Amino acid sequence: MPEKLENFSRLCIHTITTKPWTLEECVRGYEAAGVSGITVWRQVLEPYESVSEAGQQLQDSGLEVVSLCRGGFFPAETAGGRRKAIDDNRRAIEESHAIGSPLIVLVCGAVPGIPLGEAREQIADGIAAVLPEAQAAGVRLSIEPLHPMYADSRSAVNTLRQANDIVEKLDHPNLGATVDVYHLWWDPDLESEIGRAGSKIFSFHVCDWRTPTRDLLNDRGLMGEGCIDIRQIRDWVETAGFDGFVEVEIFSNEYWATDPAEFVEKIKKAYLEHC
Ligand code: ZN
Repeated sequence: MPEKLENFSRLCIHTITTKPWTLEECVRGYEAAGVSGITVWRQVLEPYESVSEAGQQLQDSGLEVVSLCRGGFFPAETAGGRRKAIDDNRRAIEESHAIGSPLIVLVCGAVPGIPLGEAREQIADGIAAVLPEAQAAGVRLSIEPLHPMYADSRSAVNTLRQANDIVEKLDHPNLGATVDVYHLWWDPDLESEIGRAGSKIFSFHVCDWRTPTRDLLNDRGLMGEGCIDIRQIRDWVETAGFDGFVEVEIFSNEYWATDPAEFVEKIKKAYLEHC
């Protein structure tokens, strides 16, 4: 795949990766670096009075908006809590539409004390409730399975198999799954589940797994710093038909303390060498 390695036409960066930057700084910084895509985390939209103002900024840039992060967090102890979650996902759909993002990534949610199977049912119900609005807005929803270390409070969907089960059950053109190498690299069924997902793979996230991992949330590695065979997983998703962006999503207290522009250059180098 030499033509892919020569340029950054499929390189996307998540705004959370350069957390010290505002959205405007991300847009300018990524553009200046020759990065092609941007995934917008909802936090960077908060300073704006109207989301469409942020959307204008993005549309005026040369960047392609790849997705909005994130919707989800559907399970709750009470029916009122679950309704609130659905409302928040409706807002996310409006925001996604307003910034020209065709996709929302779903971190599906979990609540300590709610059995995981029950939580997955609540997740499927929540997604089903908002899919008609997503379709009307021209926005796709993508279930991102999270590593099982987050099964207590962030996601009851921990394998691509579980995501595929929900995608197949709801069987909707606007619903698919995200493969994030950080969450799924260890799974012995990954290759076969990627094949099963096929055209339902809506997005692909990369970073690396550090040894030791010093923080459960914010110690992700730059590609090449850890033990994940990113090229192998990329090959599997592309064999399954995925031809979208390679999205760099790195939560890292260590890198957030450094200069974001320099970090973007490191990302470009690591992308060429390891993705
Ligand atoms: Zn991800």
